Amino acid sequence: MTDPCSVKVAVRVRPLVPHEISKGCKEIVEVIPENNQLLVRSAEKAFTFNYVLGTDSAQEELYEKCVAPLLKNLFEGLNVTIFAYGQTGSGKTHSMGTSYNGDENPGVIPRAIQDIFDHIKDTFSVDYTVTTSFTELYREVLYDLLSNRPKEQSILELREDVTKGVYIPNITELPVESAKEVLDILMRGSTGRATGSTNMNAQSSRSHSIFTVNIAMQHKLDKSQNKTAKLHLVDLAGSERPKKTGAQGTTFKEGVDINKGLFVLGNVISALGDEKLQNGFIPYRDSNLTRLLKDSLGGNSVTLMIACVSPADYNYEETMSTLRYADRARKI
Ligand code: ADP
Ligand code: MG
Repeated sequence: MTDPCSVKVAVRVRPLVPHEISKGCKEIVEVIPENNQLLVRSAEKAFTFNYVLGTDSAQEELYEKCVAPLLKNLFEGLNVTIFAYGQTGSGKTHSMGTSYNGDENPGVIPRAIQDIFDHIKDTFSVDYTVTTSFTELYREVLYDLLSNRPKEQSILELREDVTKGVYIPNITELPVESAKEVLDILMRGSTGRATGSTNMNAQSSRSHSIFTVNIAMQHKLDKSQNKTAKLHLVDLAGSERPKKTGAQGTTFKEGVDINKGLFVLGNVISALGDEKLQNGFIPYRDSNLTRLLKDSLGGNSVTLMIACVSPADYNYEETMSTLRYADRARKI
């Protein structure tokens, strides 16, 4: 079992995409797998992470190396949170599999769901109750992606209570009994994600999407043995600075709010890792993203950050910014 309160960081470099190749972009990111290191041309230092995945890495490799080992913690009653971080177009949604559509070679979420249900099928001594929810955080407003109501009527509220901790009244939490059911729910929810057009990527995602699987476990013979665990799979908003998208007006304001969530998440992860602060102040309350994930960051939980980067020279600044963010998370 992984140490509770552990944070691991994986960096994945995607291949050049067609529009980068046609623009004549050069690759400037090099991976040294044997040292878990990553070099960016013209930057002085090498970065070291728990896992580095180069441009030829398969979806299966990401899952088997970085994610599958963490999921075992769920069945011990620990919460597991997996983030995809990076600029728009860096491969977050591809890696997470958030917009799963029956793909043959899916990302993390469909694979995790399949593994969870395979484990459940193989464990006869325990009764499992699994539910799932899917939310989106957009400009600090939380939306229920599984609600049948129109978007503007599916706004959720985050509440806090001494005994319950953080909870979300009226959230749609669907009971599920098979991987197929969860995948259908994932497909249904991901079509409702807010997207906006910027000149970086027509499908630019400026919201955080949070897919959650809740697992309650009760031993069949010894009713006193029960545990619960949550798996959060978070496809974060693009980390780019608003100015690079060329967006204006509302879009610019969106950029500012979103970066606040990412900024606070960085602070929370960094505070969790600072021993002197372990019993002290962790700024969960500074953003809705961290409030929402409070009981799944630190304490009885395990976290993986998948930092996604483009290999292209054109994205040098954003790539360095992502690596610095990931580096800060790793120093725990
Ligand atoms: P993001 O969610 O970070 O905005 P996407 O996941 O949508 O980025 O990826 C942007 C584009 O790059 C998509 O066309 C996607 O298919 C492609 N892509 C991303 N990662 C990879 C990868 N590892 N291998 C091949 N193509 C990738
Ligand atoms: Mg995306």
